[in-house]
Amino acid sequence: MDPTMIRRALEERLTALDGELGELTAVPRDPAAVVSFGKRIGDATTEAVDRLTNVGAAEQLAAMRADVLRALEKLDDGTYGLCDRCGALIADERLDARPWSVLCVRCASLR
Ligand SMILES: [Zn+2]
Repeated sequence: MDPTMIRRALEERLTALDGELGELTAVPRDPAAVVSFGKRIGDATTEAVDRLTNVGAAEQLAAMRADVLRALEKLDDGTYGLCDRCGALIADERLDARPWSVLCVRCASLR
C-alpha cells in the first residue's frame, strides 16, 4: 500500500476519533448537575448506565487513538507493518481492515 495513502487514512481516523472522544467526554462534570438531571428524568439508573457505557466507549476510542498515533510514528521510522512486540510482518488483510494495527494477530490476542 502507498504510505501517503496510509498516512492520510490514519490522520483522518485521528480526526474522527478526536471528534468522537470530544462528544463522549462532554458530559457534565459537576456531580450536582448530574444528580439533578437524573432526578428530573426520574431514572437515575439509566443515567448511570449511560455514563458507564460512555466511559467504556471512551476507553476503547482512546486505546485506538494511541494505536493510530503509534502507527503514524511507525510510518516515520520505517517499521510500519511490523509487529511492535515480536517484529513479525502484520498480515496485509489485517492492515487493510485496521491500518492502525501495531501488533500482529497473535500478539494482539495476548494483549
Ligand atoms: Zn507479534
